[in-house]
Amino acid sequence: MYLLIATVLLPCAGLLGFSIYQKYQKDEDGAAQESYNLARLTAENVQRFLADSREVLSTAAQRPEMQSRNCSAILTDLSEFFPRLADISRSTTDGYLYCATQGKKNADPIYVGDTEWFKQVSKTRQFTVGPIVSGSSTKGWTIVLAQPVLDPSGAMIGTVQTQINLLKFSLAPTASTLPDSTLVTIIDSRGNVLARSMSPEKFVGKNIRDVSMVRVVLSQASGVLRTEGADGVDRIFGFVPVAGTDWKVLVGTKSNVALRQAQQSAVANISAGVIILFVALFLGIYFSRRLSTPIAGVREAAGKVASGDLQYRAKVGGPTEIAEVATQFNQMLDAIVASQTELRQSQTRLQLAMDGSRLALWEADLLAGTISFSETWAELIGEQAGTKTYTFSDFYGRIPVEDFATVKHHLILVLKGAVEHFAVEYRFPLANGKLNWFSGGGRVSERDKNGRAIRLIGVNRDIAERKAAQITIQKMAFYDALTGLPNRRFLMEKLQQASAASRRLKRQNALLFIDLDNFKSINDSLGHAAGDLLLQQVGSRIASCMRETDVLARLGGDEFVVLLQNLDADDALAAIHAELVGEKIRKVLNESFRLNMSDYQVSASIGIAVPRAGIALNTEELLRQADTAMFQAKAGGRNMVRFFDPETSSMVQARAKLETDLRIALSSSQFILFYQPQVDDAGRLLGAEALVRWRHPERGMVSPAEFIPLAEETGLILPLGLWVLEDACKQLALWAKQPHRRNLTIAVNVSARQFRQASFVKDVLAVLARTNASATRLKLELTEGLLLENIEETIDKMTILQDNGVAFSLDDFGTGYSSLSYLKRLPLDQLKIDQSFVRDILIDSNDAAIAKMVITLANTLGLQVIAEGVETIEQRDFLATQGCHHYQGYLFGRPVPTAEFELLKF
Ligand code: C2E
Ligand code: CA
Ligand code: CA
Repeated sequence: MYLLIATVLLPCAGLLGFSIYQKYQKDEDGAAQESYNLARLTAENVQRFLADSREVLSTAAQRPEMQSRNCSAILTDLSEFFPRLADISRSTTDGYLYCATQGKKNADPIYVGDTEWFKQVSKTRQFTVGPIVSGSSTKGWTIVLAQPVLDPSGAMIGTVQTQINLLKFSLAPTASTLPDSTLVTIIDSRGNVLARSMSPEKFVGKNIRDVSMVRVVLSQASGVLRTEGADGVDRIFGFVPVAGTDWKVLVGTKSNVALRQAQQSAVANISAGVIILFVALFLGIYFSRRLSTPIAGVREAAGKVASGDLQYRAKVGGPTEIAEVATQFNQMLDAIVASQTELRQSQTRLQLAMDGSRLALWEADLLAGTISFSETWAELIGEQAGTKTYTFSDFYGRIPVEDFATVKHHLILVLKGAVEHFAVEYRFPLANGKLNWFSGGGRVSERDKNGRAIRLIGVNRDIAERKAAQITIQKMAFYDALTGLPNRRFLMEKLQQASAASRRLKRQNALLFIDLDNFKSINDSLGHAAGDLLLQQVGSRIASCMRETDVLARLGGDEFVVLLQNLDADDALAAIHAELVGEKIRKVLNESFRLNMSDYQVSASIGIAVPRAGIALNTEELLRQADTAMFQAKAGGRNMVRFFDPETSSMVQARAKLETDLRIALSSSQFILFYQPQVDDAGRLLGAEALVRWRHPERGMVSPAEFIPLAEETGLILPLGLWVLEDACKQLALWAKQPHRRNLTIAVNVSARQFRQASFVKDVLAVLARTNASATRLKLELTEGLLLENIEETIDKMTILQDNGVAFSLDDFGTGYSSLSYLKRLPLDQLKIDQSFVRDILIDSNDAAIAKMVITLANTLGLQVIAEGVETIEQRDFLATQGCHHYQGYLFGRPVPTAEFELLKF
């Protein structure tokens, strides 16, 4: 019997002891984990601080001001933007500081040539984090972060650096939110204390290499350990390195605090266990059988506890003694539960530290489709305190679409398991509706048995400040401070992009180099303030001559550069356009400027470079060419526009002659219309396309391919187009009186510029009225490019004309990018298969496929289809089998004058 009781109770006591020991152990692990996490968090913060500093310094280093000696202003500006970098300076390659923020204008320049950091940055020519130093000039312990300054050729001409006062070095966000029992320290690889959350003045700068714990920390990358720290206090430490430095962050929690509760409960529990054992044995002996049931209750409770159910309590009942045993047992359990709560609280401390750093924890439940946030989130987005749960559609629906695309991309990667963690930046609306930048990072926390992610956890952080700083940095790096215009760096970047785009899109670019002729004298006589004002006004006047896609940059001084993009692929036309813009700029700058209450006259010399087709030029060369052309303009007498390339010049001159000739042609009726027949597959004549010809007095018949683009560029297409329309309508009116020709239609080509005219609809209707032509016989040929821009206006114009009976044909169809959805919206009557597809329709299966596609499309949309450029019977027959029954081409007739056209037999 005794044996029985003993065999039951002894294991119970043993199990109890073991569970207590385990719990104690868990508490130590928990504290260690907490320390480690805090260390990692702090290391990340320090790292981010260094990265930000590096960005600021490299921005500073690239500023044009850094090339000269008057850089104090920019340094002061920078430190105002980045208060943490209060002290920035610039030194020469010989190591003399010559400009610095705030009142550091010493008579004797400070010599830093013999400092460790200076030697290091000079050697590596890279961002350098210097060692900890103390000196008379530094007033306490500091480190220096330094960046080399290079000249445009890449040679090092000095350094720019910031000095960080370590006593003031903020360990935020962790330091201020830490419980007193937790200590954060940063040391370097030599064991010097760089920062400390508690009494830094006593420890920073001290070498603690000899502390045994520090030796362990220095010998391992990261880890946890329980030992005495430099101050003799027993702590549980976590330590991690700071990437990019030889620093380590150590976070220690006082062991007695972390473990006090556990120790206390352990002592209590163990003694309670022993008491139970003896009491139970004693009771067992005296009350054996009579008491077996209540004891069984305690035994059962012990079993439950051993299997992990700490909520289970023994029934208190039976004789007093037994009830006491049960009560004691229950109290013991309460103590265990209490110390467990303590463990949980220590985890909450980590959470608190995170809250202090304004991190919002979240958990996404993929099965429920919800995402829940810790309380900080409400704070971050300015909503009422509390945890928040969103459905996916609610949460992701609030993110702007362009940001969501990135978020989605990252989520997919992590869900697929392609990456472990994701980190992404996106905007999310605050309670007040304003979008704010957040960074979100996370990972999958749970997968189902098939490996599918079902839960994600992560952290969100408010990064509005960092983003704002980035934008400022960007602005400082790419824009000119005086005029707000892009600077040289921005221009070179754009130029690079532009030349790549030009190759891809087969469009030309041009560069205009503008230099004021008399800026120096105005600047000298009126002073710098007025000079600055003038430059700002010059900038906005030049800008007024440009299109949206053009780029205006200020290179410095009174030099401006304009990049014209997306010009005609034809070199000469591109050059003409550039010259027009150049002339316009020259003229607006000739108008007087009002400065200091009086008017000033300014002029500019402008050089133009157009990259010649087929000649590869790098961007620097192109800029140099424009610069050279500007000098030629100066040498030629100032206040003029010059091309770099004599060939471009002569090309432009030839075009200028052509332009004059075109003007004369218009006024002296040198244009005539030719007509080319359009037929159906029964060989019936349906009508004609009107094609303009120029009877040049010296050159004979000039092809429209040669002069239409120039007419478009110069705007002459407007009167010319109107003349063509009028002449074609006159022809329609004449044919209307001839019975066998009264049903013929005439197709007239309309150029984009003509169609875009606000008066286009009115003009067409006026011509119809004036000539008395039937609108139902008139067909206007438009091109896809023309239709693509400003579609609503296009539809409006077409609809009015169509309501009046005018038909529309889409010319050169298949060469553009029209989508079906938008073709559907246009009130078209006909698609015209471009001749390039017809030409090789029998040879090239691609062309055949495109032709077939156009025909199918026309059928789907209920439109007529006509093929142009049909030269052979085989082409016609093939088109017919594909379902195209209208044709135009040399097979049926070339474009000919009216008289000849009327002789054609069909
Ligand atoms: P487009 O509108 O595509 O006109 C068709 C061009 O193809 C015409 O060239 C025509 O002569 C030519 N062509 C016709 N059938 C055949 C053929 O079977 N084989 C070959 N190889 N070519 C054929 P054209 O007359 O030199 O006109 C060239 C372009 O000039 C026209 O192309 C059109 O874009 C423009 N154009 C002509 N007249 C006018 C006009 O009055 N106003 C406007 N805005 N543009 C016009
Ligand atoms: Ca045409
Ligand atoms: Ca065509």
